[in-house]
Amino acid sequence: MPALIVGNWKMNGLGEDIAEIAAMAGSGGRGLWIAPPFTLIDRAVIVSAGAVKIGGQDCHANEKGAHTGCVSAAMLADLGAGFVIVGHSERRRDNGETDAGVRAKAIAGKAAGLEVILCIGETQGQRDAGETEAVLAAQLEGSLPDDAEALIIAYEPVWAIGTGRTPTLDEVAAAHRFIRERLAARFGGAGHGVRILYGGSVTPANAGELLRVDEVGGVLVGGASLTAQSLLAIAAAA
Ligand code: PEP
Repeated sequence: MPALIVGNWKMNGLGEDIAEIAAMAGSGGRGLWIAPPFTLIDRAVIVSAGAVKIGGQDCHANEKGAHTGCVSAAMLADLGAGFVIVGHSERRRDNGETDAGVRAKAIAGKAAGLEVILCIGETQGQRDAGETEAVLAAQLEGSLPDDAEALIIAYEPVWAIGTGRTPTLDEVAAAHRFIRERLAARFGGAGHGVRILYGGSVTPANAGELLRVDEVGGVLVGGASLTAQSLLAIAAAA
C-alpha cells in the first residue's frame, strides 16, 4: 500500500493560494489529499481535476438544520470533497469536542460517502504521566464508528503539532502498534486494513524516516502542506 500524504491547511489560504493546489495536481502530486479551509474547497476540487483528493477539516454531525455557521458532511460531498478530518486536537481544544461528538461526526462523514480521518493523540502532560496508551484507548473507544469501512486513523501527539518536536521513531512505532491492536480488537480482521497516519511536525527532512516506521501508513501534515514545493518534497520522501 503506497503511503498516503494528507495536507491540513487549517485556517490558512485565500484565493491566490489555490495556485499551490494546482501546482500539486500538475506535478507529481497525484494521490495527495488536501483539506483546505471550507472557503476554498469548491475551487480546490476544480483545479485539482481529480489528481489531488480534496476534503474538509471538520463537519457537523447533522445532515442539515439550525446550526448557524456549520457545514455538514453532505455539503462537503456536494462540493466534490472525498474525505473529512474529524476530531483534530485543535477542534477538541478550541471547540470542546468530545469523543462522543467526534464519533457522531465520523458516522455522518461515512453516511455522506466520505472517507473519514479520525484524529487521536495525547498531550505532553498525559505522555509525561505515562498515560499515552490509556488516552489513545479511551479516545478510540469513545470515537470509533461502528465499522472500519472508509476509516483512517491519524495518530497526532498534541505536543508535536506545530511545535517542531516529534516523538522518537520508537515512540511512534509503539503508539501505532498499540492503535493497531485496539483496532483489531474492535473490528477483527477489518481492523488490520485501517490505515494509520502519523501527524505532528512532519517535514521533508523527517518524512522519510517516519514513513519507514512499522504501521505508519502515511502522514497528516499541517504547516509543511501549505506549499506545493514542501508537500511534494514530502511525497518524494515517501
Ligand atoms: C496537523 O495540523 O494535523 C499537524 C500535524 O500540523 P503540523 O504538521 O504543522 O504539526
